[in-house]
Amino acid sequence: MKAIAVERGDSRPRLIDKPRPDPDPGDALVRTLRVGIDGTDFEVIEGTHGGFPAGSDHQVLGHEAVGVVEDPNGTDLEAGQLVVPTVRRPPGDATEYFRRGEPDMAPPDECLERGIDGAHGYMAEYFTSPAAFLVPIPDAFATTGVLIEPMSNTEKALEHAYASRSAFDWQRDAALVLGNGPLGLLTLSRLQSEFDRTYCLGRRDRPDPTIDLIERLGATYVDSRETPVADVPAVYEPMDLVYEATGYARHAFDTIDALDQNGVGVLLGLPGDDEFDVAGGRLHRRLVLGNRAIVGSVNSHIEHFEAACETLSALPDWFGDELITDTFEPAAVDEAFEAAPDRIKTVIEFDSR
Ligand code: NDP
Repeated sequence: MKAIAVERGDSRPRLIDKPRPDPDPGDALVRTLRVGIDGTDFEVIEGTHGGFPAGSDHQVLGHEAVGVVEDPNGTDLEAGQLVVPTVRRPPGDATEYFRRGEPDMAPPDECLERGIDGAHGYMAEYFTSPAAFLVPIPDAFATTGVLIEPMSNTEKALEHAYASRSAFDWQRDAALVLGNGPLGLLTLSRLQSEFDRTYCLGRRDRPDPTIDLIERLGATYVDSRETPVADVPAVYEPMDLVYEATGYARHAFDTIDALDQNGVGVLLGLPGDDEFDVAGGRLHRRLVLGNRAIVGSVNSHIEHFEAACETLSALPDWFGDELITDTFEPAAVDEAFEAAPDRIKTVIEFDSR
């Protein structure tokens, strides 16, 4: 079968041929429809994040997939059911976090991540997975199901951020998303129904499809070159929620300045080992005296995938169409992984329903 993988010592993904996998007991065989590409895939290709499966000379990419059950293999799933796979798997015997049903809370050395760290991904014509890690979804998601995994990360992040504000009567009116990549834009769409005023920060000139999308959603575009994050309260307003999806390390600290009294910042970006000076004492004081919170969040699990499905179902149809700007066949792998200014979300299509 066709698969898209990066080989050891190589710095670009290639189309390879590998045997179709046979499902182990408890696994189902899935025929892949579509797999999304995101920032993490580029980090895996560059070798700055994750790692190859043990003993393998290549890693199949892809962790944002939608597919159809080809062979339920005696599991509770039915042939033809549309499914989305979760990302984390136990490294051998289930660890405590998997036993508790909270693999998203496991430390990095107590889990594998399909397509990212220590396990092959879903960018192949077929993949197998324990049925317990395949989330059944409605047929309407055959093309947009690739958005469920990234949106599930937002569902988890917001659940944790809101939980940190649950001990009092939190008044939330304004939210700021840092980053106009796919994760930022998905999150912005999610926040429209919960906040009176929403903002999304980027660093691009008009015309730009992400700015068009931000404004079509009803949010305000903030150009970080004109208004740095720390100046947002003075130029616009203090924020009750800041959601960081840039991976720009300074934003973690600037978020504290952007937050209103009692606000919460949630960080998802994955920066490198950047070093810089911060006004540590002032920011510490601002956190304490303002009852502000900063929460980090990574990955997600079944209930977050289910919530993502509901959130996406409630969005207007045009949103998915405008977010997924490019779809390629597996053979066009080089073009699919090229950066282009008019691209938002790129998808590899292995098959259609
Ligand atoms: P992208 O790299 O596609 O998007 C990042 C966006 O942030 C880009 O649009 C970029 O702008 C913008 N940006 C970066 N730096 C700045 C800056 N200084 N000022 C303004 N805008 C800036 O990534 P994704 O949307 O896929 O993901 C966002 C981040 O979240 C990544 O770091 C990713 O690794 C991480 N992530 C974390 C997850 C988790 O569970 N914690 C899950 C998924 C992703 P431009 O394009 O113009 O350069």
